[in-house]
Amino acid sequence: MSAPDPSLLDPSALEAARDEALAAFAALPSLDELPAARTAHLGDRSPIALARRALGTLPTADRADAGKRVNVVLQAVQAAFDARRVELEADRDARVLVEEAVDVTVLPGRLPVGARHPLTTLQERIADVFVAMGWEVAEGPEVEHEWFNFDALNFGGDHPAREMQDTLFVAPEGSGLVLRTHTSPVQVRSMLTRELPIYVVCPGRTFRADALDATHSPVFSQVEGLCVAEGITMAHLRGTLDHFAAAMFGEGMRTRLRPSYFPFTEPSAELDLQCFECRGVSAEPGGEPCRVCSSEGWIEWGGCGMVNPAVLRACGVDPERYSGFAFGMGIERTLMFRHGVTDIRDFYEGDQRFTLPFGMEA
Ligand SMILES: [Zn+2]
Repeated sequence: MSAPDPSLLDPSALEAARDEALAAFAALPSLDELPAARTAHLGDRSPIALARRALGTLPTADRADAGKRVNVVLQAVQAAFDARRVELEADRDARVLVEEAVDVTVLPGRLPVGARHPLTTLQERIADVFVAMGWEVAEGPEVEHEWFNFDALNFGGDHPAREMQDTLFVAPEGSGLVLRTHTSPVQVRSMLTRELPIYVVCPGRTFRADALDATHSPVFSQVEGLCVAEGITMAHLRGTLDHFAAAMFGEGMRTRLRPSYFPFTEPSAELDLQCFECRGVSAEPGGEPCRVCSSEGWIEWGGCGMVNPAVLRACGVDPERYSGFAFGMGIERTLMFRHGVTDIRDFYEGDQRFTLPFGMEA
């Protein structure tokens, strides 16, 4: 540090330091520059501080007067600094009040929130019905190996479902991969990976080489159920489906099983639902005609049956000891029944005018 300079104590030098400080404070544009100005004019290296340090170099007789001059200037500079800070704070407060003013009468800009898709909410609602009975939700890949999609489910090598008009094969040719044509491969995966007994419900997307029209889509959703345990009979299947139908369409909704054929179940049945519109009255003598069920009193909902022993064997389950049932239905179809949707394309077009009214659900 340089030696104290007694010339700093001259009255003219002190006044010059004071005037410079006052001018600097007055010129400060905002509170942000305040700390730097304080360091320059009131800090340890400021002219006034250096002058105070020079007091020791004066003859003793002169020190009192010089000290008084320094103090007067210091107080003036400090007072000017404090006054300027108060001014700048007041400026800032006034500006914030204007800039951050909230006009409570302005209408808020509302961002559209959208809604969850009805296919999603219904899948979750269906899963809830079964989880409440102690079942588990199982999922599987959408790109599936043919063995899971067909072979393990007892589809013969020449089954027509394998051919190009139904199945979407994944390149390269011979890869053995398909876009799953149903959710049933999840049954196979469940039996191969889970401990018995098995109670699983499998919702998911499925794919078939169908053209898109009012009732068909190349991509659609299914929900599949599988139960494998000891002593399972068709009565358990029937009771489960009646409970499911009641949960979907209301208490008292009757179901009907109609003999059918699927490779993976034996015996197999189509599952019909009592027409929710006419409750079957249109099929009775003298009943009003019904558009929904074509006056048959029933509408087809899905397929079901007892798991074919060949499928159990393929999945390493002993059919002598265990039996099971399985069922599957389209989620779009279920939604169309529940909500009177007449065109399946409405589910896929992403038009919020269609999906928003479903958003209140769930
Ligand atoms: Zn009807």
